[in-house]
Amino acid sequence: MAAVLIDGKAVSASVRAQLKEEVQALREEGITPGLAVIIVGDDDASHRYVRNKKKGCEELGIYSQVHMLPKETRMEELLSLISTLNTDPLIDGILVQLPLPKGLDEKRVIEAIDPGKDVDAFSEVNVGRIMIGNYTFLPCTPAGIIELLRHANVEIEGKECVVIGRSNIVGKPMAMLLMHANATVTICHSRTKNLSEVTRRADILVAAIGKPKFVTADMVKPGAVVIDVGMNRDENGRLCGDVDFEAVREKAGAITPVPGGVGPMTITTLLKNTVTAAKLHHASR
Ligand code: NAP
Repeated sequence: MAAVLIDGKAVSASVRAQLKEEVQALREEGITPGLAVIIVGDDDASHRYVRNKKKGCEELGIYSQVHMLPKETRMEELLSLISTLNTDPLIDGILVQLPLPKGLDEKRVIEAIDPGKDVDAFSEVNVGRIMIGNYTFLPCTPAGIIELLRHANVEIEGKECVVIGRSNIVGKPMAMLLMHANATVTICHSRTKNLSEVTRRADILVAAIGKPKFVTADMVKPGAVVIDVGMNRDENGRLCGDVDFEAVREKAGAITPVPGGVGPMTITTLLKNTVTAAKLHHASR
């Protein structure tokens, strides 16, 4: 029997509808959450992501600013803009779209953002807070996945979870959030030996690799929940995930499609973090 499809678009729409009500209530109290997005250079995919973030803000009634800077932008100019936004009372969240063009130091840029406005949760302070389980913002993609699992009534506690990928943006925080939810977690990467043996143990398998159709049916335990984070182009230039969707859906119990799975949840979590930041800023004024 084919796997149940975990519909990221539908879950995202329901979370956004709830957030819209929250934003409405905040605006009635005179609080308008604000997000500033900075994009440097002319990478097409990055511009598409930024457009979607702006659209998401508009749908919910969140104030947004997009700062488009040329690829020749110098570090001092970027840091100066972040410094201005850090003290701008209209702005609750600041996001710098990554990757940055060569020559700009991503780490320094992220660390320049006030941790209270770091709605991507990439700064050292916020990563540390996630590690100890005492956080304000959760990283957007992993938190979106946890929300997807909850909406699909997938129990995480006590489950064997395998995450393929150990990036700071997806793999590592994903493993951390699954552990906080009381799963037993294994992280795999490019040096993992006997990868298929490990992945076949997974009740919940998360693929965050960046290689089209890398996870094949023989790597999946029958009935497993398979979460596909990948955003790749296949040989025909079509968007595809890290999972060989057609083959794996015949073996898995539930699966996220690409597009329409994890992607929409990432922006939804960003919007949620912006609303959380606005509430905290207002409470501390
Ligand atoms: P990344 O930084 O390139 O990390 C990829 C990870 O995959 C690394 O840890 C790497 O291992 C591991 N890996 C590579 N080849 C492997 C192999 N043969 N066997 C096992 N592990 C292997 O990528 P990322 O930023 O985490 O992103 C992963 C994918 O998710 C990309 O397709 C990206 O576009 C997508 N993504 C989607 C969203 C969304 O909202 N849907 C958000 C973020 C990212 P090593 O550490 O050993 O090199």
